Amino acid sequence: MALVNEHFLKLPGSYLFSDIAKKVNSFRITHPKQDVIRLGIGDVTRPLPPVCIQAMHKAVEEMTDEKSFHGYGPEQGYEFLSEAIVKNDYLPRGIHLSTSEVFINDGAKSDTGNIGDILRHDNSVGVTDPIYPVYIDSNVMCGRAGVLEEDGRWSNVTYMPCTAENNFIPEIPNKRIDIIYLCYPNNPTGTTLTKHELKKWVDYALANDTLILFDAAYEAFITEDDVPHSIYEIKGAKKCAIEFRSFSKTAGFTGVRCGYTIVPKELTAATLTGERIPLNKLWNRRQCTKFNGASYITQRAAEAIYTPEGKQQVRENIDYYMTNARTMREGLEAAGLKVYGGVNAPYIWLKTPDGISSWRFFEQMLYEANVVGTPGVGFGPSGEGYIRLTAFGSHENCQEAMRRIRQWLK
Ligand code: PLP
Repeated sequence: MALVNEHFLKLPGSYLFSDIAKKVNSFRITHPKQDVIRLGIGDVTRPLPPVCIQAMHKAVEEMTDEKSFHGYGPEQGYEFLSEAIVKNDYLPRGIHLSTSEVFINDGAKSDTGNIGDILRHDNSVGVTDPIYPVYIDSNVMCGRAGVLEEDGRWSNVTYMPCTAENNFIPEIPNKRIDIIYLCYPNNPTGTTLTKHELKKWVDYALANDTLILFDAAYEAFITEDDVPHSIYEIKGAKKCAIEFRSFSKTAGFTGVRCGYTIVPKELTAATLTGERIPLNKLWNRRQCTKFNGASYITQRAAEAIYTPEGKQQVRENIDYYMTNARTMREGLEAAGLKVYGGVNAPYIWLKTPDGISSWRFFEQMLYEANVVGTPGVGFGPSGEGYIRLTAFGSHENCQEAMRRIRQWLK
């Protein structure tokens, strides 16, 4: 008899986006003439940069000839892409990495979810709250999160609230935690940590032998100088942190699928007997067994992002979305709402007025303004009383959505 992994049974259904879809659908049925603007989805809408399309066409052509055909590639990714990453994403910031510290993948979701494979099931876990749900769910699946308690929190997870009250800066824990997830710029709040704030986490991790899993999927959206793009800008971080990056939002790769993970050579974790094991070696072993590399065509497309034209085209896409973020911030503030984020990230985190719950405000905004957001409570208990709006739509829709919200709240 095959037995299931019963940890999966502990997972509550992920109803957030299906609940939203249901509510939007019933609104559309009862209001067929109303046009709904969706600012809830975290997916890009701009087409791929032309350099990526050209690179993919060229790579496909290579596949037509046995002399230039590519079969299985290296599990860690092609050297041409790792080199471009090291040279363009890290060296200019004074971070020296070898290409063997770069692991190309099919997007950051896979690795942020899979990284737990190389860590014992009984490590304690810390997350900022609200949070990208993959971090918790992937720990639930292997039993590391413990049991779900009545308040909706997991027993082996320490939640570090990030709310307007603490300026979205999580408090350093007053106890030891083995693994801590940090995501900056943050999804869903759109807020960031300054270098000074992030250094406190690196110092904590070094003092407590904590492993930081740093998700920098939105680093390309940073506009302010004192916000670090990489955790390795902080001294000592190579000894305590793994960094995840993604081409999804940066270059419109949500459907193409490519990202990468940095596992520094000097990063180690302990066995029960205290022996230090390099995590780079373990992750490499894991990838070689369970992953066969991102496709050659995809990696050529990602490489093209680092050409001068590629950088320019990516910049234009990001600027497009960040113009939306500004329109939304200004529009919502003009409507008398309190908003956060949207300066270094494509997410706006809106405080609901008068203490209205996330879901209540979501429904009111849908029915009164015909605009869809994502209820903040869906990202964790500290998201209650907030709504997430994304800047990934068109300029026209963003402007129209702001006009409607202003009109509604007048
Ligand atoms: N990390 C964060 C914080 C995200 O918001 C997302 C996607 O929304 C991902 C990772 C996953 O990105 P990818 O498309 O590279 O899998």
